[in-house]
Amino acid sequence: MIYYLDQAEVRFLTHELLPRIRSNPVDERLRGWNWHQPPLKPYTYEIPLSVWEVAARICPTNRDVWVRRRIIKRSVPTTPYIAKGIIIHRIISGLFKEAKKNVYLGMYRGLREKLVNRGAEIIEEEIKNMSRYVDLSRSIDEIRGFGSEIIEYLAISIENKVLEVKAKYPFLDHEGLVNLVFPFAVELAIDGRFLGLSRYLRADASWIFGGIIYDVKTGYRQRWHRIQVAGYALAIESFYERPVDIGGVIYVSRSRGGLRIEKDFFPITDDLRSRFLENRDELQMMLLKDKEPPVADKCPKTCLLHRYCHGG
Ligand code: SF4
Repeated sequence: MIYYLDQAEVRFLTHELLPRIRSNPVDERLRGWNWHQPPLKPYTYEIPLSVWEVAARICPTNRDVWVRRRIIKRSVPTTPYIAKGIIIHRIISGLFKEAKKNVYLGMYRGLREKLVNRGAEIIEEEIKNMSRYVDLSRSIDEIRGFGSEIIEYLAISIENKVLEVKAKYPFLDHEGLVNLVFPFAVELAIDGRFLGLSRYLRADASWIFGGIIYDVKTGYRQRWHRIQVAGYALAIESFYERPVDIGGVIYVSRSRGGLRIEKDFFPITDDLRSRFLENRDELQMMLLKDKEPPVADKCPKTCLLHRYCHGG
C-alpha cells in the first residue's frame, strides 16, 4: 500500500534489516549531522545541488549536469516521460494531503469517492500544467489510464486504513486518528544547505517516528535509486539531527494485469553514503572549474539529453 507496511514487510524489517543495521552500525563520520567536517563538509555552499542530480550519474562525463545548468537553465520537464513521472508523483502526494485534510476535519465518510474526484481533478490540472513545456498529445491516454489506476488503488487503501483504525480505536480524536492512519510525512521539506545541497529538497515520504525514508519511481530499477535515497537520508540527518537507517524505493508501474507496486527496502549503508558524497564532490568540483565537459564516447540510451549533445 505505497507507504504502508504489510505484514511481510514488517517481518522483513524487524527480523532482517534492523538486526543487520544493529550489528553493522553506520560510521559516525558518515552521519549527516557531522556535515561540518570531512568527508561530509562540501567544497562550497555556493552551488547548491539537488539530490537527484547528484545521484543520477548516468552521463560518463557529467555533461548532463552542465547542460541542465548552462544550456537549459530552467527546471522544467523536457520529455513526456519525465512529465508523466511528475504527474504520478503529484497524484500520490495530492491524494494523501487531501485524505489527511478530510480526516482532520472529521469528514472521512465517503472518503473514497472524494479522493477519486480529487484525483481526477489533479490529473487534468497537471496535464494542463505540463503541456506548457512538453507535447503530451501522444501520452495523454497513458497518463490518464495510469493515473486513474493509482487513484482507485490509493482511494480504497486509504479509506480502508481509516476505517480499520477507527474501528480499533473509536475513542480517538482527529489528531490521534491522523497520526495512526498517516504515520509518514508526505513531501517532507528538507533544507540541504549544510551538505552543499538545495535548501528546498523534498523527499517523497518519511516515517514520522524516524528511521525510514521513501522515494517513488515510475520507471525500472536503476542502481542510483538507492544512492538518491541515501542523499535524502544524509540531508535529513544534517537538518533534523535524527538518524535515518532504512531506505525504501517504491516502483509503481503498469503491467498487463494492471497496477504493479514493488518495494525495495535496504539499509542506508556507509557505502551508499560514501558514493553519494563522492558524486557530490565530483560535481561541485566540475561546476567550480566551470569547464564544459566533453560529449561522452558512449551515451546511455536512458539519457534524455541527446538532442543537446548530438543535435537532432
Ligand atoms: S547525451 Fe551523452 S554526453 Fe550528453 S548528457 Fe547524455 S550521456 Fe552525457
